[in-house]
Amino acid sequence: TTFQELGLPHEVLEGLNALKFLKPSKVQEKALPLMLADPPRNMIAQSQSGTGKTAAFVTTVLSRVDFSQASTPQALLLAPSRELARQIQGVITTIGQFIPNLGVSAAIPGSIPRGGTVDKAIVVGTPGTVTDLIRRRQFDTRGLKVLVIDEADNMLDQQGLGDQCSRVKGMLPKTIQILLFSATFPEKVLKYATTFAPSANIIKL
Ligand code: AMP
Repeated sequence: TTFQELGLPHEVLEGLNALKFLKPSKVQEKALPLMLADPPRNMIAQSQSGTGKTAAFVTTVLSRVDFSQASTPQALLLAPSRELARQIQGVITTIGQFIPNLGVSAAIPGSIPRGGTVDKAIVVGTPGTVTDLIRRRQFDTRGLKVLVIDEADNMLDQQGLGDQCSRVKGMLPKTIQILLFSATFPEKVLKYATTFAPSANIIKL
């Protein structure tokens, strides 16, 4: 399979090309058609780090967001640390470099001033800050179409983080597409993941 055959928008194909991503990695080849299918379906994907999972969900998000209607958030990506959130934001900016009006906000401590609003199409953040922003009505979640959780094993397992993730999910549209990515899914986490992301396609590599 080629990226072209996956039906990605041409700006996204240009971004992948600029990075010299010549063909999809295994996880991309398997996950992208499932994540991009209509109607959208949830996904739980297990894949080691270094296999291209970041580019897999970033490509999906960039293909699903309508950047011409970009004044409220359409995609939310959650990571366990601000460093990882920044890193994901960097991948979005690089793969999305040819998209006109590409907008990405980081929702990490200190990134959005009190009273400011999150007005970018894509938001990458940590669960605590995202919760605060939604509660203070600085982050309008009504237009969100896709939720990505990276390092889902950490995010859904740890007492505090897991609670924060379900609290965030409770404040999102009920029809949102949920994509969970992780290098490992211990049995207990997988069980929780399947209730967090109901009827998900499950892929393992
Ligand atoms: P990750 O699994 O997200 O940590 O990514 C592993 C590395 O693979 C990153 O440095 C990416 O830049 C690179 N990468 C991701 N997808 C591709 C691809 N399709 N072709 C070549 N390199 C890739």
